[in-house]
Amino acid sequence: MENHIKQCAHAVGFSLIGITNTDLSAYATRLNEYLEKGQHATMAYLEKHNPMRLDPKQLMPNVKSIICCALNYWPDGTNPENILTDKTKAYISRYALGRDYHKVMRKKLEQLAQKIKEKNPQLNYRCFVDSGPVLEKALAMKAGLGWQGKNSLLLNNQIGSYFFLGEIYTDLDLINDDTIHHNTHHPTPNLRHPVLDTGSRSTRSVLYSKNIIDSAVKPRNDGEQNNHCGNCEKCLNACPTKAITAPYQVDAKRCIAYLTLEYKGIIPEEMRPLIGNRIYGCDDCQLCCPWNSFAKTTQEPDFNPRHNLDNTTLIKLFSWSEEEFLKNTEGSAIRRIGYECWQRNIAVALGNAAPNKKISALLISQLNQSSPLIREHITWSLNRYENT
Ligand code: SF4
Ligand code: SF4
Repeated sequence: MENHIKQCAHAVGFSLIGITNTDLSAYATRLNEYLEKGQHATMAYLEKHNPMRLDPKQLMPNVKSIICCALNYWPDGTNPENILTDKTKAYISRYALGRDYHKVMRKKLEQLAQKIKEKNPQLNYRCFVDSGPVLEKALAMKAGLGWQGKNSLLLNNQIGSYFFLGEIYTDLDLINDDTIHHNTHHPTPNLRHPVLDTGSRSTRSVLYSKNIIDSAVKPRNDGEQNNHCGNCEKCLNACPTKAITAPYQVDAKRCIAYLTLEYKGIIPEEMRPLIGNRIYGCDDCQLCCPWNSFAKTTQEPDFNPRHNLDNTTLIKLFSWSEEEFLKNTEGSAIRRIGYECWQRNIAVALGNAAPNKKISALLISQLNQSSPLIREHITWSLNRYENT
């Protein structure tokens, strides 16, 4: 049965698949510490549903096995480094350029569940894609899909970290995975000594060659992949806001992904210059990661960039009316933040661009027709222009 499920998962298009049980007790201490330190910022839902997150049976009483799936999203032909260095352009996290991953993942999870049901008509299941209090990274680690990197994201030694996770809770009593299943070859990237490595992002294709220098690194055969971060600290150094306060610890209050997506209020002034031109999320702690030299282009056409969002200007996006925003982000994860936060984020990025008359004129033209939240950020940007 387990092999059949894995074959079906690959047929549906998943990049990784693993099976685990419901015991998350080993992860409770870490999660509780994170919450106690308040590093989840305003994401109160994390606290509220903590018991359910740690006990899958509270979500589905008869759950016995959890099928964890990963779907690679790295879009073809995008050039993130060029966009990040051109401050007139808008940087949107690579995962959000195409169709909303929630929809794509859920459809694939349902397809997989139906295939399993063909052989097990009595199957009961629930699919999750960020849609419930699920400790997805811990489950994925237990299922052998990867390890938690120092940037806190799940990394896999075959495909890096550019993938989404989804889970199927089932009442099937399945054999849990011992190790990763999709490939038996485990290369290692060039994890250079962080002190010696002065390379910039733009040269990463050379620096992160696929040389196998660490032949001692082997996956364990007891569930989780070994942690392959080694001495590397690239993500800690690359983070524009120093949000990775220590290995494996991200302070959400400083993280650009949180500030531009989750946070609905006034972005603290000291954070605004550090945000640069990142208007929706941030990928810096992944772009710098040596393991992403193994990232593969997605086979999922739905993740291809829409409306040229991988290479467009701040001015163009700031000029969208609310109607245009809703139309152009239909079916996209971007729509979730709403027009006001979209405008807020772009206003900040415009303040970080080199001053020019066209931008000033656009900011001024929007000033009086915007909400107090957007006005606050437009005013900050205009003041920066005046002071430069
Ligand atoms: S997403 Fe960006 S801001 Fe957040 S931890 Fe990673 S590099 Fe830092
Ligand atoms: S950049 Fe280095 S330390 Fe950070 S997650 Fe990747 S391998 Fe680990």
